[in-house]
Amino acid sequence: MLIVMQARATEPEIQSVCNAIQGLGWEARPLPGGTRTAIGIVGNDKPVDPGRFEGMAGVMEVIRVTAPYKLVSREWQAQDSIVTVAPDLNGGVAIGGGDCVIVAGPCAVESEEQLLETAAYVAAAGVRMLRAGAFKPRTSPYDFQGLGEEGLKHLRKARNTYGLAIVTEAMDEQGADLVAEYADVIQVGARNMQNYTLLRYIARLGKPVLLKRGPSALLKEWLLAAEYLLAEGNSKVMLCERGVRSFDQATRNLLDLSAVPLIRQLSHLPVLVDPSHGTGRRELVLPMSRAAVAAGAHGLLVETHPRPEQALSDGAQSLYPDQLRQLVQQSAALQLALAG
Ligand code: PEP
Ligand code: MN
Repeated sequence: MLIVMQARATEPEIQSVCNAIQGLGWEARPLPGGTRTAIGIVGNDKPVDPGRFEGMAGVMEVIRVTAPYKLVSREWQAQDSIVTVAPDLNGGVAIGGGDCVIVAGPCAVESEEQLLETAAYVAAAGVRMLRAGAFKPRTSPYDFQGLGEEGLKHLRKARNTYGLAIVTEAMDEQGADLVAEYADVIQVGARNMQNYTLLRYIARLGKPVLLKRGPSALLKEWLLAAEYLLAEGNSKVMLCERGVRSFDQATRNLLDLSAVPLIRQLSHLPVLVDPSHGTGRRELVLPMSRAAVAAGAHGLLVETHPRPEQALSDGAQSLYPDQLRQLVQQSAALQLALAG
């Protein structure tokens, strides 16, 4: 339920609506807008009777929020959310506005040299955000697990050297504290999308969060996972479609591009697409990136490596430097064509 106050509603009128909500045992979330304030109700386990509030002084209208998620829904907020990442780097990078933002980098930080070499060509290609895992959620415990804090230090060096905003994954609370210290965006990986205690913990760190879709998560489950972050007071949340498990082994996952326009319909949060994990195959990354831009993605998260055949993880889906440059050009050209 959302209670929209009249533009001329006074502070005491807003306060008395909040008091009435709290008196019923629920939580009131005032959402000040440009011209008027709306007050959201959260924590109600059953539908709220709008009649309780319609007659109160200063109330203009009462809107039912029909979705099980509230704070992330379009009903709650009609205009797109824009998440500003790394405001200290030339004003930062805005995600969720007009441009489709590219986030590129290797699957994992392998060494300082590998990361800085990658960061150099990523930045030279015009990309402003670097991704790379220091904590890697590998399917096998015998595979390369990431460099941990040492990897985060290399990421920090890449940030300082090339002015790139850093996106990297945290897999547990301890790791999240470290990631928050070194990086600009905390990535919650597909495997942890429904780790609700971790989501709550990460939300409270106050950093922008990139929430990947679980490998078999319904859109509703994904949005409810995002709701955990917003309910904990962090609204700097971006979603990332990365493909779901399917019956066909031809691609690593089945990239669900219909999720992009659908999420944009259901939610005000920015939505990015990861065609690297979504397909698992380098030659499919460019075509699916073009499709993602056309579908309305607010960003692309892609893997790239200076020598993919030597990568310690996900080499088969990592773009060569030249392919990354093509991706940047094609995405810009496509956006221009779509705008015109
Ligand atoms: C990644 O982006 O590095 C990653 C591990 O992806 P996902 O969580 O989508 O598998
Ligand atoms: Mn990877």
